[in-house]
Amino acid sequence: MKTEERSVGTKYKHLDTKLVHAGEPEPRIKGAVSLPIFQSAMFEYAGETNYHDLKYIRLNNTPNHVALHEKLAALESAEAALVTASGMAAISTSLLTVLSHGDHLLIQAHLYGGTHDLVTKDFASFGLSYDFIDADDPESWKSKLRPKTQAIYVETVSNPLLQVADLKSVVAFAKANGLVSMIDNTFASPVNFRPPEHGFDLSLHSCTKYLNGHSDIVAGACIGRRDLIQEITHKLNHLGGSLDPHAAFLLYRGVKTLGVRVRYQNESALKLARFLEKHSAVAKVNYPGLESHPRHQRARELFDGFGGMLSFELKGGLEASERFMQKAKIPIPAPSLGGVESLMTRPSTTSHSGMSPEDRKKLGISDSLIRISVGIETTEDLLEDFDQALK
Ligand code: PLP
Repeated sequence: MKTEERSVGTKYKHLDTKLVHAGEPEPRIKGAVSLPIFQSAMFEYAGETNYHDLKYIRLNNTPNHVALHEKLAALESAEAALVTASGMAAISTSLLTVLSHGDHLLIQAHLYGGTHDLVTKDFASFGLSYDFIDADDPESWKSKLRPKTQAIYVETVSNPLLQVADLKSVVAFAKANGLVSMIDNTFASPVNFRPPEHGFDLSLHSCTKYLNGHSDIVAGACIGRRDLIQEITHKLNHLGGSLDPHAAFLLYRGVKTLGVRVRYQNESALKLARFLEKHSAVAKVNYPGLESHPRHQRARELFDGFGGMLSFELKGGLEASERFMQKAKIPIPAPSLGGVESLMTRPSTTSHSGMSPEDRKKLGISDSLIRISVGIETTEDLLEDFDQALK
């Protein structure tokens, strides 16, 4: 059966059951409890009349792709889903589908560095234009609309300052102005937020992070409206950023534990954020679960959990940050996030190093800011480790 024809999200009611069972082939292949890897570039011709229906890895329709599409769509109660070779393949292919030469995009100023780079450095060569918006100030958006504005793009929780935009207004504004609403939901994961349930047209993920959760593959996903997912699939079929079946198998396996991982990470991150906030060496903690977060109430209303990401500044500035990162023993100094192991990084040197120092300053991303991706280690051990590193 073609992905488009399968009904999704209706068979299982709750997220953890969908995580384990949605997408499973029926009947099981030779009774295999774990869906095997179909490591075959092409499949026998079966009379397909449409290019996009030929069974071929690049055309995103091997059994491993199809199972993942169904599982991911079910997780966010969406009509359809597509996996891609990376989060950036999901983002770039979606944007290049929704926008054509001459079109204009409204996009949140606080963005993952790679997306910021794509828009600021590559858009012009595709004949596309954009305006940055303050995603927390809906009043300011109208004046930036142009006749050729096609879409509005935000992140659920911004990287690395953990801001929570006015997501309800983004959906309402898109509907009122005939725009496609797009959201990068990587930081929240479907455990904490499911954009299609709130009216977003497209939810994008770097599955490299929470969805896979084991820091061993690069992958992405587009989840949302069936018509858009089909258009994006055709674009991806042409551009070629398709996920290899072996990586698809690993993602399919990794995602089954998403619920237990992310709920634990939510709890652990909140405890760490509270500990850091009270510590005398810490100047500021960014975490939406803290009452001190400027949009704590909004996060409480929108999300089922506050996530495993936090960032903070030390009173001693850059030197103190560097010392903290040398002394901390459990978090691994590495970019990326969402895995079982805690990671720490200074975004100015990694995820946001492509931005000019002036742009980073304007957005409030200091050189000393430390971002933590909280893993699934015992919380007590992390607290103890942070405590000794701060001393
Ligand atoms: N979106 C966010 C929020 C990210 O943090 C990242 C990567 O760090 C991406 C997208 C890009 O994902 P990938 O590295 O899988 O291409």
